[in-house]
Amino acid sequence: SQAHDELRDLVRTIPDFPNPGIQFRDVTTLLLDPAGLRGTIDALVASVDGPVDLIAAIDARGFAVGGAMATAMGAGLMLIRKDGKLPGATIAEDYALEYGTDRLAVHVDACAPGARVLLVDDLIATGGTAMAAARLVERAGGRLVGARFVINLPDLGGSAKLREAGIEVRSLLEFE
Ligand code: 5GP
Repeated sequence: SQAHDELRDLVRTIPDFPNPGIQFRDVTTLLLDPAGLRGTIDALVASVDGPVDLIAAIDARGFAVGGAMATAMGAGLMLIRKDGKLPGATIAEDYALEYGTDRLAVHVDACAPGARVLLVDDLIATGGTAMAAARLVERAGGRLVGARFVINLPDLGGSAKLREAGIEVRSLLEFE
């Protein structure tokens, strides 16, 4: 559709970031555009069917998208942060990067038992980040009802990995 193409055209591609050969899909240009930002949030919110108690947003671009979705949906916002940033007691999950590992954390009391949680990030590639976040949501006591991304890079396999784990996944835009 025209609306979809307009959103897609607002994503900037930066070659060789952060490493040679990587085509970085930059959503900051989409977020800068008032109609692009509104259109992105509206479309993601419209893609959610059932009730959601909490949006679990992933550090850092996921905070922008997830925060806007939460206010639009009347949900609360759970921040899943890079390790070392949260002041209270946390639980943490490691996940693999191309070289080495990284760690995500969430407050142990971030979630009421059985709360319906929707995971949100700007982009899914290999799915390592989203799978670690999904484990945190479940360890915190939440019930994951789905995951939403502005961009999916399906060739990298992350969306398939989440679906194999039984997670309902939707995204707005796909890139190679
Ligand atoms: P994954 O763990 O699925 O391989 O990588 C997804 C995570 O890395 C997300 O948190 C996302 O923000 C970031 N990421 C990886 N590649 C890109 C990219 O090309 N563009 C953007 N905006 N984020 C990326």
